[in-house]
Amino acid sequence: MTQTKTISAYAAQEEGGALEAFTYDVGALAPDEVEIEVLHCGICHSDLSMIDNEWGMSEYPLVAGHEVIGRIAAIGSDVAKLKPGMAVGLGWHAGYCGQCPLCRAGDQNLCADAVGTIVAHHGGFADRVRASASSVVPIPEGMDLESAGPLLCGGITVFNPLVQFDVKPTDKVAVIGIGGLGHLALQFLNAWGCDVTAFTSTESKRQEALEFGAHRTLDSRDPEAIEAAAGSFDFIISTVNVKLDWNLYVGALKPRGRLHLVGATLEPLDLGVFPLIMGQRSVSGSPVGSPATIGQMLEFAHLHDVRPKVEVYPMARVNEAVEHLKSGNARYRIVLSNG
Ligand code: NAP
Ligand code: ZN
Repeated sequence: MTQTKTISAYAAQEEGGALEAFTYDVGALAPDEVEIEVLHCGICHSDLSMIDNEWGMSEYPLVAGHEVIGRIAAIGSDVAKLKPGMAVGLGWHAGYCGQCPLCRAGDQNLCADAVGTIVAHHGGFADRVRASASSVVPIPEGMDLESAGPLLCGGITVFNPLVQFDVKPTDKVAVIGIGGLGHLALQFLNAWGCDVTAFTSTESKRQEALEFGAHRTLDSRDPEAIEAAAGSFDFIISTVNVKLDWNLYVGALKPRGRLHLVGATLEPLDLGVFPLIMGQRSVSGSPVGSPATIGQMLEFAHLHDVRPKVEVYPMARVNEAVEHLKSGNARYRIVLSNG
């Protein structure tokens, strides 16, 4: 395999536009870059938000896709560890400045100059994608490649907080929203040893939430159910992208508990301060993880068989796949395949 001159992709040409076949020319690979032949690419809710410019940072033509599994097709002259033919993953970040204190400390995911794979950069709804080698991680030998893609964004986004906030196996943890991120959070938390509660608004997901590793399920939109759980949790992780009654969820925390938001809710939080003060409770958020944490997450997922439950579509049916995710009926992550 060698580097290509032209990449064939699917792009939105305008805000909210349907994805159309789009080719773009690429020059010679930069010394620190790799070119990946895309085998599979998950669809994250963030892809929809970027296509629709919900966050005001989209540039068009926009090639979405940041849960890439592929094989190294070509490497730049300075790339030492990644070799042609290796199975690799690429997530939300396609490069980091490499120089700032955060990068030097191994917190590249917090680098202010990190390159977003689909932010002014073309992503994985394509036959190939390029990225800095520093952001590309090897996939553990023997891991199922077709279903692994969603770990690269959805998986690391819910795994990273367990590391950052030192979640313990004795903790009682709740997950709000059992979609792409949430169904992985249940699996990771169960394997981590925690007591796991799934908050879902979808009755038909309750049984499967138990199978993913939840010990019980509650209705995320039922105030009485949340009130009945007052003072229960050490950690609550929200993956929903809508406004919920966050004060009720803060009330469900134990003293010193934390409500942690990874779902990109656009509405500002409206929180009473006294439950935070009196119980020394915290509210926080976090992005995806660093390359090192992504590597740890993949090893952990492989060891404990944390496996995205995927629905596979051929890459050419990307618009149908996007509509399916928008409908709320995806179970639980859609993967586009070039196979
Ligand atoms: P998803 O598969 O669509 O899942 C979102 C879940 O939220 C749904 O499955 C649903 O779960 C719940 N939900 C949706 N509408 C709701 C409503 N009206 N009321 C209550 N619950 C509702 O999306 P995803 O790919 O997991 O992404 C989730 C969010 O995380 C998005 O905002 C995405 O942009 C963000 N994200 C953030 C990061 C980061 O770095 N922090 C990384 C990746 C994604 P139930 O059916 O169980 O209620
Ligand atoms: Zn994502």
